Amino acid sequence: MNPLLTEAYSADAFRQQGHALIDLLADHLATAQTGTGSVLNYQLPDQQLAYWQADFAQPTSADPIPLLATILQRSIHLHHPQCMGHQVSPPLPLAALTGLMTGMLNQGMAVYEMGMTANALERIVTQWLAQQLALGDTAGGLLTSGGTLANLTALLTARAVLARADVWEEGTTSQLAIMVSEEAHYCVDRAARIMGLGTEGIIKIPTNDRFQMRTGLLETHYEWARKKGLVVFAVVGSCCSTSTGSYDDLTAIADFCEKHTLWFHADGAHGAVAALSDTYRHLVRGIERADSVVVDFHKMMLTPALVTAVLYRRDVDSYRTFQQKAQYLWADAEAKDWFNSGKRAFECTKLMMSANVYTLLRTYGLQLFTANVETLYGLAENLVAQLRGRPDFCLAVEPEANIVCFRYVGTEVDEQQLDRLNAQIRARLVADGSFYIVQTTIRGRVYLRVSLMNPLTTPEHLTRLLDELVRCARAERTGLVTADHPAS
Ligand SMILES: *Cc1c(COP(=O)(O)O)cnc(C)c1O
Repeated sequence: MNPLLTEAYSADAFRQQGHALIDLLADHLATAQTGTGSVLNYQLPDQQLAYWQADFAQPTSADPIPLLATILQRSIHLHHPQCMGHQVSPPLPLAALTGLMTGMLNQGMAVYEMGMTANALERIVTQWLAQQLALGDTAGGLLTSGGTLANLTALLTARAVLARADVWEEGTTSQLAIMVSEEAHYCVDRAARIMGLGTEGIIKIPTNDRFQMRTGLLETHYEWARKKGLVVFAVVGSCCSTSTGSYDDLTAIADFCEKHTLWFHADGAHGAVAALSDTYRHLVRGIERADSVVVDFHKMMLTPALVTAVLYRRDVDSYRTFQQKAQYLWADAEAKDWFNSGKRAFECTKLMMSANVYTLLRTYGLQLFTANVETLYGLAENLVAQLRGRPDFCLAVEPEANIVCFRYVGTEVDEQQLDRLNAQIRARLVADGSFYIVQTTIRGRVYLRVSLMNPLTTPEHLTRLLDELVRCARAERTGLVTADHPAS
């Protein structure tokens, strides 16, 4: 055998490097969680690239640990309690360990033998979640790689089940359409375009002052679409929306879909987990009537990316999404066999992501997820209370989830000036590295956006954030120049 390959597969080296890596990560975790170091060491993209180009030019090294330590140091630290930017979970340590194991096992999933345990766990985990959402006895689903792919998958199922045209065999003949709120995640728009619906086929329903779909307008938009010859087959509800964390009225959407025999898809990538809490379940009232629901585990359920459930109220619908006959994979392409993952998932080979979720459930139980959602949504309520007590800030909208949009106003009255100032404040904050937040544009105005994703964040961290924002605003006002502002 080739000596390099023998060495690269050495179990002893794996053991030794593995221990060193775990030590490195455990030290990192302990430090990050104290909140003392920086969330990120910001560098401009070109500088970052130059660093790695120089690194790449070095001769190979037998010890990968210094390299891994550098990657760690040059990455954003999600476990830092002052990291509150995007909706990505700081993964539970156990979930990261499971990821190491699934990386080693590398079960391909598409056919049963290549994922015997993983396919069984996937069945259990999806049915468990479907029951939590009260989707009923015939519910089920599958796991796939991310909310983006999951939404496309669900809409493909909707089209296969409900659109009279057989697009799979004949291509697009009639002008199909979906209805969705203007606040929906951009991936819904993307999915619709991939499906050939075009701009005409994406009917955007305006939102109210809380950024929820104005469901009272569904009827008139539907009539107008039919008059134009469009064949509407689905309505997508957001629970919650990405920008402001607003929950659409799912019951109203369910009523409308029932009346017109349309597919009701609920995009709960971020916020469907509210169903796991007695306190917040009311936010997703009506989700149990959805034909399909998407839930990201890597957002609110503590796993590393990507793990997403596509759930169906009637599990059998999921077998109609794709109608491929791959003789070398499956003896019977028509059989509805849950254990051949590739029949219903977009992916052929896919990660054995079910093991990750299952391990968390078997170790910590449902209570872990309930505690997480209640902690994070509670933190948002705390931030709102603090903002209310500070005239320097104004809220974009009363948040329903753990996403809070607000802006610094100070004594400034000119709106454009404020847009510029808020963008500068954020850039300064991120360049400092002590906090990470993002910005968004709402109704044409620049807002700061905070996603509270780390349950170890405390109200004190939030106070510090607001203090720091005021400090940044004053520094901008006095014209201090900060180097290396991130592109915003
Ligand atoms: C994040 C999000 C998505 C996209 O999910 P990915 O897992 O990032 O692909 C879709 N819809 C909503 C509502 C989201 O919040």
